[in-house]
Amino acid sequence: MSNSYIDTRGNTSTPIPFTQAVVNGLASGGGLYVPEHVPTLTLQQIVDMAHMPYAQRAATVYKAFEVDLPDARVDELMEAAYGSNFDDEAICPVNTVADGMHVLELWHGPTSAFKDMALQSLPLFFSESAQQLREQGKLDNTFMILVATSGDTGKAALAGFADVAGTHIGVLFPDGGVSDIQRKQMVTQEGDNVMVWAVRGNFDDCQTAAKRVFGDRQFSDELMQSHKIALSSANSINWGRLLPQVVYYISSYSMLVAAGTIEAGEAIDVCVPTGNFGNILAAWYAKQMGTPIERLLCASNENRVLTDFINTGTYDISDRDFVLTPSPSMDILVSSNLERQLFELTGRNADAITGWMRDLSENKMFKIDEQTFARVRDHFASDSVSSAECLQTIKRVHDEHGYLLDPHTAVAWEVAQRLREDRHVVVASTAHWAKFGADVYRALNGIEPGGELPAEVADLTGCELNELIARTAQGAPVPAGLAQIDSKPVRFTRVIDNSTAAVEEAVSEFLAAGNAQ
Ligand SMILES: *Cc1c(COP(=O)(O)O)cnc(C)c1O
Repeated sequence: MSNSYIDTRGNTSTPIPFTQAVVNGLASGGGLYVPEHVPTLTLQQIVDMAHMPYAQRAATVYKAFEVDLPDARVDELMEAAYGSNFDDEAICPVNTVADGMHVLELWHGPTSAFKDMALQSLPLFFSESAQQLREQGKLDNTFMILVATSGDTGKAALAGFADVAGTHIGVLFPDGGVSDIQRKQMVTQEGDNVMVWAVRGNFDDCQTAAKRVFGDRQFSDELMQSHKIALSSANSINWGRLLPQVVYYISSYSMLVAAGTIEAGEAIDVCVPTGNFGNILAAWYAKQMGTPIERLLCASNENRVLTDFINTGTYDISDRDFVLTPSPSMDILVSSNLERQLFELTGRNADAITGWMRDLSENKMFKIDEQTFARVRDHFASDSVSSAECLQTIKRVHDEHGYLLDPHTAVAWEVAQRLREDRHVVVASTAHWAKFGADVYRALNGIEPGGELPAEVADLTGCELNELIARTAQGAPVPAGLAQIDSKPVRFTRVIDNSTAAVEEAVSEFLAAGNAQ
Protein backbone atom coordinates (compact mmCIF):
# COMPACT_ATOMS: atom_id res chain seq x y z
CA MET A 1 0.00 0.00 0.00
CA SER A 2 1.24 3.49 -0.68
CA ASN A 3 -0.04 7.03 -0.75
CA SER A 4 0.02 8.70 -4.17
CA TYR A 5 0.45 12.32 -5.16
CA ILE A 6 -1.76 14.61 -7.19
CA ASP A 7 -1.11 18.27 -7.98
CA THR A 8 -2.82 21.53 -7.14
CA ARG A 9 -3.63 22.42 -10.77
CA GLY A 10 -5.03 19.05 -11.71
CA ASN A 11 -2.48 18.05 -14.35
CA THR A 12 -1.35 14.77 -12.79
CA SER A 13 -3.84 12.39 -14.39
CA THR A 14 -2.21 9.29 -12.92
CA PRO A 15 -1.18 9.90 -9.30
CA ILE A 16 2.51 9.23 -8.66
CA PRO A 17 4.34 7.77 -5.64
CA PHE A 18 6.32 9.75 -3.04
CA THR A 19 9.70 8.91 -4.64
CA GLN A 20 8.62 10.31 -8.01
CA ALA A 21 7.09 13.43 -6.45
CA VAL A 22 10.36 14.15 -4.63
CA VAL A 23 12.48 13.70 -7.74
CA ASN A 24 10.08 15.74 -9.93
CA GLY A 25 9.81 18.63 -7.43
CA LEU A 26 7.29 20.68 -9.39
CA ALA A 27 4.42 19.09 -11.35
CA SER A 28 4.18 19.76 -15.06
CA GLY A 29 1.82 22.70 -15.56
CA GLY A 30 3.27 24.45 -12.52
CA GLY A 31 1.19 22.79 -9.79
CA LEU A 32 2.50 21.53 -6.45
CA TYR A 33 2.25 17.93 -5.33
CA VAL A 34 0.04 16.97 -2.40
CA PRO A 35 -0.72 13.48 -1.05
CA GLU A 36 -4.02 11.95 -2.12
CA HIS A 37 -4.94 11.45 1.50
CA VAL A 38 -3.65 12.87 4.77
CA PRO A 39 -3.26 10.16 7.42
CA THR A 40 -4.36 10.65 11.02
CA LEU A 41 -2.67 9.61 14.24
CA THR A 42 -4.57 8.90 17.47
CA LEU A 43 -3.94 11.16 20.47
CA GLN A 44 -2.21 8.21 22.14
CA GLN A 45 0.13 7.74 19.16
CA ILE A 46 0.98 11.44 19.27
CA VAL A 47 1.60 11.50 23.01
CA ASP A 48 3.71 8.33 22.84
CA MET A 49 6.13 10.00 20.43
CA ALA A 50 7.74 11.80 23.37
CA HIS A 51 9.33 8.49 24.36
CA MET A 52 11.06 7.93 21.01
CA PRO A 53 14.25 9.52 19.68
CA TYR A 54 13.45 12.33 17.25
CA ALA A 55 14.55 10.26 14.24
CA GLN A 56 11.95 7.65 15.11
CA ARG A 57 9.23 10.32 15.42
CA ALA A 58 10.12 11.42 11.90
CA ALA A 59 10.10 7.83 10.61
CA THR A 60 6.68 7.30 12.22
CA VAL A 61 5.23 10.25 10.34
CA TYR A 62 6.77 9.15 7.02
CA LYS A 63 5.38 5.65 7.45
CA ALA A 64 1.94 7.09 8.27
CA PHE A 65 2.18 8.82 4.86
CA GLU A 66 3.01 5.41 3.34
CA VAL A 67 6.12 6.55 1.50
CA ASP A 68 7.11 3.95 -1.11
CA LEU A 69 10.45 3.05 0.49
CA PRO A 70 11.11 0.06 2.77
CA ASP A 71 10.37 0.81 6.46
CA ALA A 72 13.88 -0.21 7.52
CA ARG A 73 15.38 2.19 4.98
CA VAL A 74 13.19 5.05 6.24
CA ASP A 75 14.47 4.34 9.76
CA GLU A 76 18.10 4.43 8.58
CA LEU A 77 17.71 7.63 6.59
CA MET A 78 16.03 9.38 9.51
CA GLU A 79 18.80 8.31 11.87
CA ALA A 80 21.30 9.83 9.45
CA ALA A 81 19.21 13.01 9.06
CA TYR A 82 18.59 13.66 12.76
CA GLY A 83 21.60 12.52 14.81
CA SER A 84 24.93 13.91 15.94
CA ASN A 85 24.79 16.50 13.13
CA PHE A 86 22.51 18.42 15.54
CA ASP A 87 23.99 20.00 18.66
CA ASP A 88 21.09 19.03 20.91
CA GLU A 89 20.00 15.48 21.53
CA ALA A 90 16.36 16.55 21.41
CA ILE A 91 17.08 17.86 17.83
CA CYS A 92 14.51 20.63 18.29
CA PRO A 93 13.91 21.21 22.00
CA VAL A 94 10.97 23.21 23.34
CA ASN A 95 12.09 25.99 25.66
CA THR A 96 9.47 27.56 27.93
CA VAL A 97 10.57 31.18 27.99
CA ALA A 98 7.57 32.82 29.68
CA ASP A 99 4.28 31.69 31.15
CA GLY A 100 2.47 29.76 28.41
CA MET A 101 5.03 30.84 25.76
CA HIS A 102 7.09 27.93 24.44
CA VAL A 103 9.87 28.45 21.92
CA LEU A 104 10.38 25.52 19.55
CA GLU A 105 14.09 25.84 18.71
CA LEU A 106 14.48 24.69 15.11
CA TRP A 107 18.09 25.86 14.74
CA HIS A 108 20.22 23.19 16.36
CA GLY A 109 21.29 21.77 12.98
CA PRO A 110 24.64 22.19 11.22
CA THR A 111 23.92 25.66 9.77
CA SER A 112 22.04 27.10 12.79
CA ALA A 113 18.91 27.86 10.77
CA PHE A 114 15.57 26.07 10.59
CA LYS A 115 16.09 25.17 6.91
CA ASP A 116 18.28 22.35 8.28
CA MET A 117 15.18 20.62 9.65
CA ALA A 118 14.12 19.96 6.05
CA LEU A 119 17.47 20.05 4.27
CA GLN A 120 19.19 17.44 6.42
CA SER A 121 16.43 15.04 5.39
CA LEU A 122 15.43 15.95 1.80
CA PRO A 123 18.81 15.18 0.14
CA LEU A 124 18.87 11.68 1.64
CA PHE A 125 15.33 10.96 0.50
CA PHE A 126 15.99 12.59 -2.87
CA SER A 127 19.05 10.39 -3.44
CA GLU A 128 17.27 7.27 -2.21
CA SER A 129 14.21 8.01 -4.33
CA ALA A 130 16.36 8.49 -7.44
CA GLN A 131 18.23 5.28 -6.68
CA GLN A 132 14.96 3.35 -6.36
CA LEU A 133 13.64 4.83 -9.62
CA ARG A 134 16.90 3.85 -11.36
CA GLU A 135 16.53 0.30 -10.08
CA GLN A 136 12.96 0.27 -11.39
CA GLY A 137 14.25 1.41 -14.78
CA LYS A 138 12.35 4.71 -14.58
CA LEU A 139 15.44 6.90 -14.48
CA ASP A 140 19.02 6.59 -15.67
CA ASN A 141 20.66 9.86 -14.67
CA THR A 142 22.08 11.61 -11.63
CA PHE A 143 21.39 15.22 -10.59
CA MET A 144 22.97 18.63 -10.39
CA ILE A 145 21.12 20.74 -7.82
CA LEU A 146 21.36 24.45 -8.67
CA VAL A 147 20.32 26.90 -5.95
CA ALA A 148 20.16 30.70 -5.97
CA THR A 149 20.27 32.02 -2.43
CA SER A 150 19.91 35.30 -0.55
CA GLY A 151 21.93 33.76 2.27
CA ASP A 152 20.53 31.00 4.47
CA THR A 153 19.02 28.46 2.08
CA GLY A 154 22.26 28.08 0.12
CA LYS A 155 24.28 27.00 3.12
CA ALA A 156 21.59 24.64 4.39
CA ALA A 157 21.34 23.06 0.92
CA LEU A 158 25.14 22.72 0.66
CA ALA A 159 25.33 21.08 4.07
CA GLY A 160 22.46 18.75 3.21
CA PHE A 161 23.67 17.64 -0.24
CA ALA A 162 27.42 17.47 0.55
CA ASP A 163 28.69 14.00 -0.40
CA VAL A 164 25.16 12.63 -0.99
CA ALA A 165 25.31 9.87 -3.63
CA GLY A 166 24.08 10.68 -7.12
CA THR A 167 24.03 14.45 -6.59
CA HIS A 168 26.13 17.54 -7.21
CA ILE A 169 25.24 20.91 -5.79
CA GLY A 170 26.09 24.43 -6.97
CA VAL A 171 25.05 27.59 -5.15
CA LEU A 172 24.81 31.11 -6.58
CA PHE A 173 24.89 34.00 -4.12
CA PRO A 174 24.97 37.76 -4.76
CA ASP A 175 28.55 39.03 -4.45
CA GLY A 176 28.59 41.54 -1.59
CA GLY A 177 24.89 40.88 -0.91
CA VAL A 178 25.13 38.44 2.01
CA SER A 179 26.48 38.92 5.52
CA ASP A 180 30.09 38.11 6.44
CA ILE A 181 28.94 35.02 8.37
CA GLN A 182 26.66 33.82 5.56
CA ARG A 183 29.42 34.14 2.95
CA LYS A 184 31.98 32.37 5.10
CA GLN A 185 29.50 29.60 5.88
CA MET A 186 29.15 28.92 2.15
CA VAL A 187 32.69 29.37 0.84
CA THR A 188 34.13 27.07 3.53
CA GLN A 189 31.70 24.22 2.75
CA GLU A 190 33.36 20.81 2.66
CA GLY A 191 32.47 17.93 0.33
CA ASP A 192 33.56 16.57 -3.05
CA ASN A 193 30.34 17.32 -4.91
CA VAL A 194 29.85 20.97 -3.91
CA MET A 195 30.52 24.31 -5.65
CA VAL A 196 29.82 27.91 -4.72
CA TRP A 197 29.83 30.97 -6.98
CA ALA A 198 29.58 34.64 -6.08
CA VAL A 199 27.54 36.37 -8.79
CA ARG A 200 27.94 40.01 -9.83
CA GLY A 201 24.50 41.45 -9.08
CA ASN A 202 21.78 41.16 -6.45
CA PHE A 203 19.70 38.18 -5.35
CA ASP A 204 17.14 38.81 -8.08
CA ASP A 205 19.89 38.61 -10.71
CA CYS A 206 21.02 35.27 -9.23
CA GLN A 207 17.50 33.90 -9.23
CA THR A 208 16.78 35.10 -12.75
CA ALA A 209 20.02 33.55 -14.02
CA ALA A 210 19.20 30.23 -12.32
CA LYS A 211 15.68 30.24 -13.80
CA ARG A 212 17.02 30.91 -17.30
CA VAL A 213 19.49 28.05 -16.94
CA PHE A 214 16.63 25.76 -15.89
CA GLY A 215 14.63 26.94 -18.89
CA ASP A 216 17.43 26.35 -21.44
CA ARG A 217 16.52 23.03 -23.08
CA GLN A 218 19.66 22.92 -25.17
CA PHE A 219 21.83 23.20 -22.08
CA SER A 220 19.96 20.47 -20.22
CA ASP A 221 20.24 18.19 -23.27
CA GLU A 222 23.98 18.80 -23.31
CA LEU A 223 24.37 17.96 -19.63
CA MET A 224 22.37 14.81 -20.11
CA GLN A 225 24.43 13.75 -23.12
CA SER A 226 27.86 14.52 -21.76
CA HIS A 227 27.36 13.62 -18.09
CA LYS A 228 23.96 11.87 -17.74
CA ILE A 229 23.03 14.62 -15.34
CA ALA A 230 19.70 16.45 -14.99
CA LEU A 231 19.32 19.86 -13.36
CA SER A 232 17.07 20.11 -10.31
CA SER A 233 16.30 22.89 -7.85
CA ALA A 234 15.15 20.91 -4.80
CA ASN A 235 13.52 24.16 -3.68
CA SER A 236 11.01 24.86 -0.96
CA ILE A 237 7.99 23.70 -2.92
CA ASN A 238 9.30 20.11 -2.99
CA TRP A 239 7.02 17.84 -0.92
CA GLY A 240 10.19 16.23 0.43
CA ARG A 241 10.99 19.53 2.12
CA LEU A 242 7.53 19.98 3.58
CA LEU A 243 6.97 16.57 5.11
CA PRO A 244 9.95 16.74 7.54
CA GLN A 245 8.49 19.98 8.88
CA VAL A 246 5.20 18.32 9.86
CA VAL A 247 7.15 16.15 12.30
CA TYR A 248 8.34 18.86 14.67
CA TYR A 249 4.89 20.23 15.39
CA ILE A 250 3.63 16.79 16.42
CA SER A 251 6.88 16.26 18.32
CA SER A 252 6.60 19.55 20.22
CA TYR A 253 3.06 18.72 21.31
CA SER A 254 4.13 15.33 22.65
CA MET A 255 7.00 16.94 24.56
CA LEU A 256 4.72 19.51 26.21
CA VAL A 257 2.42 16.70 27.35
CA ALA A 258 5.35 14.57 28.60
CA ALA A 259 6.67 17.55 30.56
CA GLY A 260 3.29 17.95 32.26
CA THR A 261 2.95 21.46 30.82
CA ILE A 262 -0.34 20.64 29.07
CA GLU A 263 -2.90 17.83 29.41
CA ALA A 264 -3.12 15.24 26.64
CA GLY A 265 -5.81 16.55 24.31
CA GLU A 266 -5.53 20.17 25.46
CA ALA A 267 -5.53 22.53 22.48
CA ILE A 268 -2.57 24.81 21.81
CA ASP A 269 -1.89 27.61 19.32
CA VAL A 270 1.16 27.71 17.09
CA CYS A 271 2.78 30.95 15.90
CA VAL A 272 5.06 30.87 12.86
CA PRO A 273 7.24 33.60 11.31
CA THR A 274 6.12 33.20 7.72
CA GLY A 275 7.69 33.78 4.32
CA ASN A 276 6.97 31.16 1.69
CA PHE A 277 4.19 29.65 3.87
CA GLY A 278 5.93 26.24 4.06
CA ASN A 279 6.53 26.16 7.78
CA ILE A 280 3.01 27.21 8.74
CA LEU A 281 1.46 24.86 6.15
CA ALA A 282 3.39 22.04 7.84
CA ALA A 283 1.67 23.02 11.11
CA TRP A 284 -1.69 22.83 9.33
CA TYR A 285 -0.89 19.28 8.16
CA ALA A 286 0.12 18.39 11.73
CA LYS A 287 -3.30 19.66 12.82
CA GLN A 288 -5.03 17.63 10.11
CA MET A 289 -3.19 14.55 11.32
CA GLY A 290 -4.78 14.96 14.75
CA THR A 291 -2.45 17.20 16.74
CA PRO A 292 -4.65 19.35 19.04
CA ILE A 293 -3.76 22.68 17.47
CA GLU A 294 -6.50 25.30 17.62
CA ARG A 295 -5.18 28.35 15.77
CA LEU A 296 -2.29 28.88 13.40
CA LEU A 297 -0.92 32.36 13.99
CA CYS A 298 0.77 33.71 10.87
CA ALA A 299 3.41 36.32 11.71
CA SER A 300 4.57 38.79 9.05
CA ASN A 301 7.12 41.58 9.03
CA GLU A 302 6.55 44.82 7.08
CA ASN A 303 6.04 42.73 3.95
CA ARG A 304 2.52 42.04 5.18
CA VAL A 305 0.82 40.54 2.12
CA LEU A 306 -0.06 37.35 4.03
CA THR A 307 -1.46 39.23 7.02
CA ASP A 308 -3.67 41.28 4.73
CA PHE A 309 -4.74 38.15 2.86
CA ILE A 310 -5.72 36.29 6.02
CA ASN A 311 -7.62 39.31 7.27
CA THR A 312 -9.42 40.19 4.02
CA GLY A 313 -9.42 37.21 1.63
CA THR A 314 -7.67 39.25 -1.07
CA TYR A 315 -4.05 38.61 -2.03
CA ASP A 316 -2.84 41.79 -3.60
CA ILE A 317 0.71 42.67 -4.67
CA SER A 318 -0.33 45.16 -7.37
CA ASP A 319 0.70 48.14 -5.27
CA ARG A 320 3.18 46.77 -2.77
CA ASP A 321 6.83 47.64 -2.46
CA PHE A 322 9.30 45.00 -1.41
CA VAL A 323 10.69 46.18 1.96
CA LEU A 324 14.08 45.13 3.34
CA THR A 325 13.70 44.22 7.03
CA PRO A 326 15.86 42.70 9.80
CA SER A 327 14.07 39.38 9.06
CA PRO A 328 15.17 38.88 5.41
CA SER A 329 13.91 35.30 5.10
CA MET A 330 10.38 36.67 5.46
CA ASP A 331 10.89 39.43 2.89
CA ILE A 332 8.70 37.92 0.24
CA LEU A 333 5.80 38.99 -1.95
CA VAL A 334 4.77 35.77 -3.68
CA SER A 335 4.30 33.07 -1.09
CA SER A 336 4.46 29.87 -3.09
CA ASN A 337 3.21 27.29 -0.59
CA LEU A 338 -0.02 29.22 -0.06
CA GLU A 339 -1.17 27.45 -3.22
CA ARG A 340 -1.13 24.10 -1.40
CA GLN A 341 -3.01 25.55 1.56
CA LEU A 342 -5.75 26.96 -0.65
CA PHE A 343 -6.01 23.70 -2.59
CA GLU A 344 -6.68 21.93 0.71
CA LEU A 345 -9.12 24.56 2.01
CA THR A 346 -11.19 24.57 -1.19
CA GLY A 347 -11.72 20.84 -0.79
CA ARG A 348 -9.03 20.28 -3.46
CA ASN A 349 -10.53 22.37 -6.22
CA ALA A 350 -7.80 22.50 -8.90
CA ASP A 351 -9.92 24.73 -11.15
CA ALA A 352 -10.27 27.39 -8.47
CA ILE A 353 -6.51 27.31 -7.81
CA THR A 354 -5.63 27.51 -11.50
CA GLY A 355 -7.90 30.56 -11.83
CA TRP A 356 -6.49 32.37 -8.81
CA MET A 357 -2.90 31.71 -9.85
CA ARG A 358 -3.73 33.05 -13.32
CA ASP A 359 -5.22 36.18 -11.71
CA LEU A 360 -2.07 36.57 -9.64
CA SER A 361 0.28 36.41 -12.62
CA GLU A 362 -1.95 38.54 -14.90
CA ASN A 363 -3.40 41.09 -12.45
CA LYS A 364 -1.03 40.79 -9.48
CA MET A 365 -3.98 39.91 -7.24
CA PHE A 366 -6.66 37.34 -6.52
CA LYS A 367 -9.71 37.16 -4.26
CA ILE A 368 -10.95 33.92 -2.76
CA ASP A 369 -14.65 33.05 -2.40
CA GLU A 370 -16.60 33.53 0.85
CA GLN A 371 -16.68 29.87 1.77
CA THR A 372 -12.93 29.39 1.38
CA PHE A 373 -12.32 32.63 3.26
CA ALA A 374 -14.46 31.33 6.14
CA ARG A 375 -12.26 28.22 6.26
CA VAL A 376 -9.11 30.34 6.29
CA ARG A 377 -10.57 32.20 9.27
CA ASP A 378 -11.39 28.90 11.02
CA HIS A 379 -7.70 28.02 11.18
CA PHE A 380 -5.65 31.19 10.86
CA ALA A 381 -5.16 34.56 12.51
CA SER A 382 -2.44 36.98 11.53
CA ASP A 383 -0.67 40.21 12.36
CA SER A 384 2.44 42.04 11.17
CA VAL A 385 5.29 43.63 13.08
CA SER A 386 7.33 46.65 12.01
CA SER A 387 11.11 46.51 11.90
CA ALA A 388 11.36 48.85 14.90
CA GLU A 389 8.92 46.70 16.88
CA CYS A 390 10.92 43.61 15.95
CA LEU A 391 14.13 45.02 17.43
CA GLN A 392 12.25 46.30 20.51
CA THR A 393 10.89 42.79 21.06
CA ILE A 394 14.41 41.30 21.00
CA LYS A 395 15.47 43.78 23.68
CA ARG A 396 12.34 43.35 25.82
CA VAL A 397 12.41 39.55 25.81
CA HIS A 398 16.13 39.59 26.58
CA ASP A 399 15.71 42.00 29.49
CA GLU A 400 12.61 40.34 30.92
CA HIS A 401 13.37 36.67 30.34
CA GLY A 402 17.12 36.39 29.70
CA TYR A 403 16.47 34.80 26.29
CA LEU A 404 17.87 36.08 23.03
CA LEU A 405 15.58 35.87 19.97
CA ASP A 406 16.71 36.19 16.38
CA PRO A 407 14.76 38.83 14.37
CA HIS A 408 12.49 36.24 12.65
CA THR A 409 11.51 34.61 15.92
CA ALA A 410 11.01 38.06 17.46
CA VAL A 411 8.37 38.83 14.83
CA ALA A 412 6.53 35.64 15.80
CA TRP A 413 6.91 36.28 19.53
CA GLU A 414 5.35 39.73 19.22
CA VAL A 415 2.44 38.46 17.09
CA ALA A 416 1.84 35.62 19.56
CA GLN A 417 1.67 38.14 22.40
CA ARG A 418 -0.78 40.36 20.54
CA LEU A 419 -3.12 37.60 19.38
CA ARG A 420 -2.89 35.42 22.46
CA GLU A 421 -5.99 33.85 23.93
CA ASP A 422 -6.31 31.55 26.92
CA ARG A 423 -4.07 28.85 25.44
CA HIS A 424 -0.44 27.77 25.46
CA VAL A 425 1.44 28.96 22.39
CA VAL A 426 4.30 27.23 20.60
CA VAL A 427 6.42 29.87 18.85
CA ALA A 428 8.46 28.44 15.98
CA SER A 429 12.03 29.76 16.32
CA THR A 430 13.63 29.70 12.90
CA ALA A 431 17.20 30.91 13.45
CA HIS A 432 19.88 31.15 16.10
CA TRP A 433 20.43 34.80 17.08
CA ALA A 434 24.11 34.57 16.03
CA LYS A 435 23.11 34.31 12.34
CA PHE A 436 21.82 37.89 12.59
CA GLY A 437 24.36 39.42 14.97
CA ALA A 438 24.30 42.94 13.53
CA ASP A 439 20.56 43.41 14.07
CA VAL A 440 20.69 41.72 17.46
CA TYR A 441 23.43 44.20 18.38
CA ARG A 442 21.25 47.08 17.16
CA ALA A 443 18.32 45.74 19.20
CA LEU A 444 20.28 45.41 22.43
CA ASN A 445 21.87 48.83 22.02
CA GLY A 446 18.83 50.83 20.99
CA ILE A 447 20.03 51.48 17.42
CA GLU A 448 17.18 51.81 14.92
CA PRO A 449 16.71 49.27 12.08
CA GLY A 450 19.30 49.88 9.36
CA GLY A 451 21.06 52.39 11.65
CA GLU A 452 24.83 52.69 11.52
CA LEU A 453 26.86 50.58 13.90
CA PRO A 454 29.52 52.39 16.00
CA ALA A 455 32.87 52.50 14.16
CA GLU A 456 34.59 50.06 16.51
CA VAL A 457 31.78 47.52 15.93
CA ALA A 458 31.36 48.06 12.19
CA ASP A 459 34.90 46.82 11.57
CA LEU A 460 34.45 43.50 13.36
CA THR A 461 33.97 40.24 11.49
CA GLY A 462 30.62 38.52 12.03
CA CYS A 463 32.33 36.14 14.46
CA GLU A 464 33.93 38.91 16.47
CA LEU A 465 30.63 40.76 16.70
CA ASN A 466 28.90 37.62 17.97
CA GLU A 467 31.61 37.18 20.60
CA LEU A 468 31.04 40.73 21.72
CA ILE A 469 27.28 40.15 22.01
CA ALA A 470 27.76 36.83 23.81
CA ARG A 471 30.05 38.49 26.39
CA THR A 472 27.48 41.06 27.35
CA ALA A 473 24.09 39.44 26.76
CA GLN A 474 22.29 36.43 28.16
CA GLY A 475 21.25 33.86 25.60
CA ALA A 476 22.25 30.61 23.96
CA PRO A 477 26.02 30.45 23.29
CA VAL A 478 27.30 30.90 19.73
CA PRO A 479 27.16 27.45 18.04
CA ALA A 480 30.58 25.90 17.37
CA GLY A 481 30.07 25.94 13.60
CA LEU A 482 29.61 29.73 13.62
CA ALA A 483 32.16 30.50 16.34
CA GLN A 484 35.04 28.87 14.45
CA ILE A 485 34.22 30.05 10.98
CA ASP A 486 36.98 32.71 10.73
CA SER A 487 39.60 29.95 10.96
CA LYS A 488 38.08 27.56 8.41
CA PRO A 489 39.87 27.38 5.03
CA VAL A 490 38.10 29.19 2.17
CA ARG A 491 37.51 26.77 -0.72
CA PHE A 492 35.56 28.89 -3.19
CA THR A 493 36.52 32.33 -4.50
CA ARG A 494 35.09 32.42 -8.04
CA VAL A 495 33.07 35.50 -8.99
CA ILE A 496 31.02 35.19 -12.18
CA ASP A 497 28.69 37.36 -14.26
CA ASN A 498 24.95 36.97 -13.87
CA SER A 499 24.31 36.11 -17.52
CA THR A 500 22.80 32.75 -18.43
CA ALA A 501 25.92 31.94 -20.45
CA ALA A 502 28.27 32.68 -17.56
CA VAL A 503 26.34 30.44 -15.17
CA GLU A 504 26.08 27.65 -17.72
CA GLU A 505 29.79 27.83 -18.42
CA ALA A 506 30.54 27.68 -14.70
CA VAL A 507 28.28 24.66 -14.24
CA SER A 508 29.84 22.85 -17.22
CA GLU A 509 33.34 23.56 -15.98
CA PHE A 510 32.50 22.23 -12.53
CA LEU A 511 30.98 19.04 -13.92
CA ALA A 512 33.84 18.52 -16.36
CA ALA A 513 36.50 18.94 -13.68
CA GLY A 514 36.34 15.26 -12.88
CA ASN A 515 33.57 15.79 -10.37
CA ALA A 516 30.85 14.27 -12.49
CA GLN A 517 31.16 10.57 -11.93
C1 LIG B 1 12.89 30.36 5.44
C2 LIG B 1 12.77 31.09 6.74
C3 LIG B 1 11.54 31.55 7.24
C4 LIG B 1 10.25 31.43 6.46
O1 LIG B 1 9.80 30.11 6.37
P1 LIG B 1 8.70 29.74 5.26
O2 LIG B 1 8.58 28.27 5.33
O3 LIG B 1 9.24 30.24 3.96
O4 LIG B 1 7.44 30.44 5.65
C5 LIG B 1 11.52 32.17 8.47
N1 LIG B 1 12.65 32.37 9.19
C6 LIG B 1 13.86 31.95 8.74
C7 LIG B 1 15.07 32.22 9.58
C8 LIG B 1 13.97 31.30 7.52
O5 LIG B 1 15.18 30.91 7.08
